[in-house]
Amino acid sequence: MLRGFFILLSKVPWAQRVITRWGVARRAARRFVAGDTIADALQAALALNQAGMQVSLDPLGENTTHAEGAEAAAQEILTLLDSLHAHELRANVSIKLSQLGLALDENLCRQLLGKILARAGERGVFIRIDMEDASLTERTLEMFHWARQQSEGVGVVIQAYLYRSEADLMRLREVQGKVRLCKGAYREGADVAFPQKSAVNRNYDHLVKVLLESARAAGTPLLSADGRTPPLAAVATHDPARIAFAEAEMARQGLPKGSVEFQMLYGIRRDLQETLVRQGHAVRVYVPYGTHWYPYFMRRLAERPENVRFFLSNLFRK
Ligand SMILES: Cc1cc2nc3c(=O)[nH]c(=O)nc-3n(C[C@H](O)[C@H](O)[C@H](O)COP(=O)(O)OP(=O)(O)OC[C@H]3O[C@@H](n4cnc5c(N)ncnc54)[C@H](O)[C@@H]3O)c2cc1C
Repeated sequence: MLRGFFILLSKVPWAQRVITRWGVARRAARRFVAGDTIADALQAALALNQAGMQVSLDPLGENTTHAEGAEAAAQEILTLLDSLHAHELRANVSIKLSQLGLALDENLCRQLLGKILARAGERGVFIRIDMEDASLTERTLEMFHWARQQSEGVGVVIQAYLYRSEADLMRLREVQGKVRLCKGAYREGADVAFPQKSAVNRNYDHLVKVLLESARAAGTPLLSADGRTPPLAAVATHDPARIAFAEAEMARQGLPKGSVEFQMLYGIRRDLQETLVRQGHAVRVYVPYGTHWYPYFMRRLAERPENVRFFLSNLFRK
């Protein structure tokens, strides 16, 4: 219930206006968001690189409601790509197509994505297309398949809570699409997604197996030497049981360390991130930055009741 409430809240404009004005909310969000500016993000990326981890930078933004907003988001991403080139960090970039206007005007979105892919190609930076709520799944995958024809330096995300995901993975296998597998962060109906967590976990393990088979079939490409291009398979979770399953599956399929990337979010389970690095695994941390932190923060609260309690106790202490 709590999860549903916070995900609903993430979409309510008046709640966004009220909550983003609270200094205490901004400070709480900083646990999950590196800061407001590209400079903040680059600083966080450098520290993570020094700790042996790769990074994916996320210029926060989603559900843009007008063309100017989509163009401004694209411009921010282009500037980030230029900055990454200048700093030689082991980092790539994650984007959301709704920030480029996918729900508004598909042609505009395609045109902006094309510009981003061209610049990313020049700068040698891989682009990951995040997955959003189920109303955008089909359009996001269609756009990814178009993007994959333009560039090899692009990957997408598959959510284990959706019934359709195995079929989507099989289609991605045909184009050797680079995939980040996550559980899924939105609130979906039982008509499209497994309602129970145990079923999502079971499907996650099943999809890990399918994804790792794709990696083996593709000749197990490793993480690139500059740390920017991930291997074909990325296992994105903080769930120790899912990670243990993926490790066992790597061993069973004879996949070496570095042929599967473990990905986690900035501010969550740093201890686990460090353990995996010590064990010799490739680890990438997803680092969001920017002023549009509200929906992202609400989704992080939704995932864990302890986060809400912590946030509320701070709120009422002030
Ligand atoms: C790198 C990365 C990229 C992602 N990209 C997408 C995407 O494109 N689309 C999408 O829908 N979702 C995305 N997600 C979010 C994902 O779908 C889940 O919502 C999120 O990862 C929580 O699920 P979990 O796999 O960690 O498992 P859970 O079972 O939810 O959590 C396992 C454990 O992780 C810790 N944990 C999890 N969440 C939190 C939190 N918010 N605060 C504190 N501790 C926490 C807790 O210790 C918890 O017990 C991404 C996640 C990662 C790691």
